[in-house]
Amino acid sequence: MLKRNFLALRIPVVAVIASLLFINCSKSSDTGTTTTTTTTVTAGSVDITSVVQSKFLTSYVTITTNGGNIILKSDGRPNNHKSPYWGVGNALYEPFPAGHSTNPNGTIGVQNYTMTIPAAPNGAGTHEATDLGPIGMALNGVAIFNNNEAGGVPIDAGIISSLDGAGAHPAQQANYHYHITGTYTTLDDANLVGFLRDGFPIYGRRDKDGTYPTNLDAYNGHVSATTEFPAGIYHYHTRNENYLNTGYYILKSGSYYGTKGTFVY
Ligand SMILES: [Zn+2]
Ligand SMILES: [Zn+2]
Repeated sequence: MLKRNFLALRIPVVAVIASLLFINCSKSSDTGTTTTTTTTVTAGSVDITSVVQSKFLTSYVTITTNGGNIILKSDGRPNNHKSPYWGVGNALYEPFPAGHSTNPNGTIGVQNYTMTIPAAPNGAGTHEATDLGPIGMALNGVAIFNNNEAGGVPIDAGIISSLDGAGAHPAQQANYHYHITGTYTTLDDANLVGFLRDGFPIYGRRDKDGTYPTNLDAYNGHVSATTEFPAGIYHYHTRNENYLNTGYYILKSGSYYGTKGTFVY
């Protein structure tokens, strides 16, 4: 009886050690390879296709695969949640959060988005900066933007005040997009928000065990297990910094970890 218990205990211990080694290996080898194209992320062997197919809201996002790529198409609207930018009278209308008000762009418009990402994303040799415009797609087909507005100006308190309860607003082509955390994506949790253009998933501020990760790299990511990828994958986290003391958190700033695919809009 004692022996059986001992054996039963050993298995999870071995599994924990193995997963720690896995993380350490990928992390240490990662630090020396930023100038080569050699892929070092162990999670580069992770195929994201089945998670993409099961987690994107397929009522609003059409998913196809083609030669190692996944192609996601959407109309870019937050069809699954409310916003003041739907306009008064729309069934999905809700007021702005206290102190927030509309920006001049006004409304949510139909877009024609096509994002193409690798089915097995991997680290890039050169880490390209995220740009203006869509840097990824949330699970409902809405574009994810970084912390900049037109002209490359970081969003400030004034721009924050034009964001709705979802942390989003429309740009000049009525293209609604998320900049920060919000009610319908992530607040203080480990939610999967979507995927960036390099194919890596982006999560809320916490890991699946409820803790805030402490080993994030320059791209605000790391390799560890997530709910959707229990064997581990490189993933981004929402930045765990109260942005300009607004109580909101930037989804993504800085560079991509992997090589970005296309986002046609
Ligand atoms: Zn914006
Ligand atoms: Zn994590």
